[in-house]
Amino acid sequence: MRRIRIALGSEDGINICPTHLGMADRFYIYELWENGDYKLVEWRLNSSPQEKRHADPEKRRAITEILKDCEIFVGRKLSPNFIKLRDNTQFQPVLTEIETISDLMDELRNFFPRLFDLVERRRRGARPKEIPQVSKPLTLSHIYGPVPSRRLGFSLGVDLVPYKTCSFDCIYCQLGGTTERTVERREWVPQGEVLSQIREALATRGRIDYITFSGSGEPTLHSGLGWLIREIKKVTDIPVAVLTNGSLLFREDLREELLAADLVVPSLDAGTQKTLERVNRPHPSLNLKGIIQGLLQFRREFKGRLWLEVMLVEGINDTEEEVGEMVKIVGKLKPDKVHLNTVVRPPSEGYAHPLSAPALQRIKASFGPGCEIIAGFKGEREEPYLQDMEGGILELVRRRPVTLSDIAHSLGLHENEVIKCLQVLEERGMVKTHWFEGERYYKPGV
Ligand code: SF4
Repeated sequence: MRRIRIALGSEDGINICPTHLGMADRFYIYELWENGDYKLVEWRLNSSPQEKRHADPEKRRAITEILKDCEIFVGRKLSPNFIKLRDNTQFQPVLTEIETISDLMDELRNFFPRLFDLVERRRRGARPKEIPQVSKPLTLSHIYGPVPSRRLGFSLGVDLVPYKTCSFDCIYCQLGGTTERTVERREWVPQGEVLSQIREALATRGRIDYITFSGSGEPTLHSGLGWLIREIKKVTDIPVAVLTNGSLLFREDLREELLAADLVVPSLDAGTQKTLERVNRPHPSLNLKGIIQGLLQFRREFKGRLWLEVMLVEGINDTEEEVGEMVKIVGKLKPDKVHLNTVVRPPSEGYAHPLSAPALQRIKASFGPGCEIIAGFKGEREEPYLQDMEGGILELVRRRPVTLSDIAHSLGLHENEVIKCLQVLEERGMVKTHWFEGERYYKPGV
């Protein structure tokens, strides 16, 4: 029978070490079989040296030596060393918010096929970017919000892909760099689990104006998107929106699945192939011609509302020629609305700067009367909703520099919710960011 060997950190054999795996005094080794049985094999002392600096390679080497017969490393915090393990070794990191070993092992049974698949791929030399996040189903790990938004009212977010899986790696992406750039449509997260979480949220989470597929990457990469939309329609009249980068609309199966949605919001940030490559950094199999053909074909078939979002980045896609090309595409597409946006949240690349309000106004005029500016500048956001989160975020930031994903994990929030709050705190000068080894960290402001 297939099995995997799992290592986690603990001081007492009951609770999982609340911080990075390498900080634990002892490592506990478990074996998990595909029928759901598991057993403790042994515990080992963490004899690795003290960390001399953040992401110390010596420490990493010592830990992998101690745990060399294990396949899965479980931690409660994402550390730079976990990223290095993922990218350079046969060990598969896993993150969890679960506090006790027994709860974790019970939950890991549901993840066995996915984890075994990752372990096998690693054995064959692949280095998948995925770091599975194991949480109790009741935390509704695929759902966030309802988040108040200017366009959709109270929007219940549904996240269908692991952080951060996308066919693009946009320079302005507020979620950070794409870790899994792919065009593969598959069941990235179990669709039955997503549906039961949506049902649970509908029953318990107050006012919801839209159910919105968005989240940690590109939702159309999930092969169950159409099924989920149809299942939602069986249980509620709340309209369904899909926010997409539009790159896969050339696929007939996807266009067909999206016909059941009420609102589709694709994005278009380039009028030429060169700019697409600069702004969106697409998967190598994608090109602008195919993307536009897909959009136009979908427009002909779709009976719901289509709003096109254009994200403008200073000096990159805001030239007269580029905007002119986009205006021509919009002229053929005839979306119900065009929404102009710019980089108002911390981007993936520091060189992605926003346009000023007057520059946006000038470009808006080129797109004609159906165009609105949706970029939320200072003072226009959902303050009361964000206040609830501020205290928790500030407390974390004061303790040590943290990444977006650290904050989301520690507070049990979705990255998209945390981003909104961090933006406000940054504008008030209460937090500031700095880069370390390609990752953005948040620290207290002045
Ligand atoms: S902005 Fe959207 S399309 Fe671009 S990388 Fe981020 S998730 Fe993907």
